[in-house]
Amino acid sequence: MTARALIWFRRDLRLDDNLALVEAARDYDELVGVFVLSPRMWRAHDEAPRKVQLWLDAAEGLGAALEARGVALKVLRADTPGEVAAALRELCKALDCKAIYFNNEYEINEQRRDLKVAEMAADEGLHLRRFDTRYLTLPGSLKTAAGGPYTVFTPFRRRWAEALSAVEHRPLSAPTPRQRSALARDPVPTQLEGFEGGFDRALWPATEAEAERRLKRFVSHGLAAYAEGRDRPAEAGTSALSPYLAAGLLSPRRALAAALKANNGRLSGGLPGSLAGPSTWLSELAWRDFYGHVLVNFPRVSRHRAFKVETERLAWREAPDELSRWCAGQTGFALVDAGMRQLMATGWMHNRVRMVVASFLSKDLMLDWRLGERHFMQHLIDGDLAANNGGWQWAASTGTDAQPWFRIFNPDAQAEKFDPEARYIGRWVPELKGLSLKQIARLTPAERRARGYAQPMVDRGASRARVMAAFRALGLGDEAPHDAGADPNA
Ligand SMILES: Cc1cc2nc3c(=O)[nH]c(=O)nc-3n(C[C@H](O)[C@H](O)[C@H](O)COP(=O)(O)OP(=O)(O)OC[C@H]3O[C@@H](n4cnc5c(N)ncnc54)[C@H](O)[C@@H]3O)c2cc1C
Repeated sequence: MTARALIWFRRDLRLDDNLALVEAARDYDELVGVFVLSPRMWRAHDEAPRKVQLWLDAAEGLGAALEARGVALKVLRADTPGEVAAALRELCKALDCKAIYFNNEYEINEQRRDLKVAEMAADEGLHLRRFDTRYLTLPGSLKTAAGGPYTVFTPFRRRWAEALSAVEHRPLSAPTPRQRSALARDPVPTQLEGFEGGFDRALWPATEAEAERRLKRFVSHGLAAYAEGRDRPAEAGTSALSPYLAAGLLSPRRALAAALKANNGRLSGGLPGSLAGPSTWLSELAWRDFYGHVLVNFPRVSRHRAFKVETERLAWREAPDELSRWCAGQTGFALVDAGMRQLMATGWMHNRVRMVVASFLSKDLMLDWRLGERHFMQHLIDGDLAANNGGWQWAASTGTDAQPWFRIFNPDAQAEKFDPEARYIGRWVPELKGLSLKQIARLTPAERRARGYAQPMVDRGASRARVMAAFRALGLGDEAPHDAGADPNA
């Protein structure tokens, strides 16, 4: 009789370099895959409809790829930790599976769910094995010399490179289990109620092959020039791999291996001057890990609490109409509006512009950063609690390594620096198409009206003074601790 194990796919929707899958195929003769639909939990987590749609497409593709290797993918529907544990128990019983294998997730609710599943497995005498593949380093494992968690990026980056130097990074190939399953696979629903719309399949094909293609293309055409190219939102200077890393269609180790190869095997430094792209890109993968560590070390950020607890006292304004204008890309500030419209149209926004729009909401409008974090989560195709929360708290000066509170981005100056020909602006704000930045700056209120473009919704001098006064009142000091070398967006 063959021994059968369940392999539970979550945000690791891939065959390639999937440690839980490889180990399960080594330990057991026959594997059954499972994917759990949790629409109520996903709604409670503000998962974007387009991202859920990407998961469904990816799971369907995974089902077909697993079938070719003799593994049937089953689809369950369960939401609460208790429901998920019960559904997995029933499936194991029905299919006579002796074990459950999966790769860990680190958000609080996901951890609670997995704890419940672990308890169920212990009660039922099922063999449970869990692995860590979401990040390059185990979240929470890297400690400062004093044994504490890192709260500043630059020393984390050094320690991260040291830790990675000590291990092998060879990604694992997809295994084929010893025994083919005779079970039929379940179809993954093409849509889930409450998550319809907004997904552009042509823009984000949800396959491992697409992730691999993008990685290859980026490494051969974008990586060397990344250090400069990454800050120009009009150009495709970044990898656009975030949706693939977030859904686990691409393993971070596969991305690391590609960058290392291009950087002569070095995790830091490497190519000189303008060719410093690989090492800069590796730092972005380190930022991804850094925020994973923050999530685990400071669980309050999972509950949308400020990392800097003292900033919880800040009297954020309540202005739903202003929030709506920001969401709709109708602030009257061209770069902000371009970014917000790119987000709504594609589910993705260039990193430089994410930072500008986040600063605008939290500083110029002085609206609670959590409102922006939520809006991003509800619309991003790459929405990820750790990175999104980290980015928002960075911009709002409430987080680890945050932007000092007295530094506030000027969206027009940012446009001059990073979109000097207004190409990005013209692409996303058709009312301004064909205008130079100078011409945009000189538009009179009547000309803006004639073009159907919004009037600037704040006087930046006044809005700046307002938020500076609010932060000053917190008594944080003029020089909030800041790691000058560590700007994820510098
Ligand atoms: C306010 C705000 C919100 C953000 N929300 C998210 C989010 O929900 N999900 C998300 O993946 N990223 C988020 N980021 C980080 C960053 O903007 C995106 O990862 C990046 O724009 C994705 O594009 P790319 O794949 O071309 O990145 P590349 O520049 O090619 O970088 C490679 C990979 O490194 C990781 N990465 C890059 N920058 C960061 C960063 N600053 N923090 C953490 N990881 C990073 C991503 O996985 C990315 O795919 C946010 C940043 C800000 C300022």
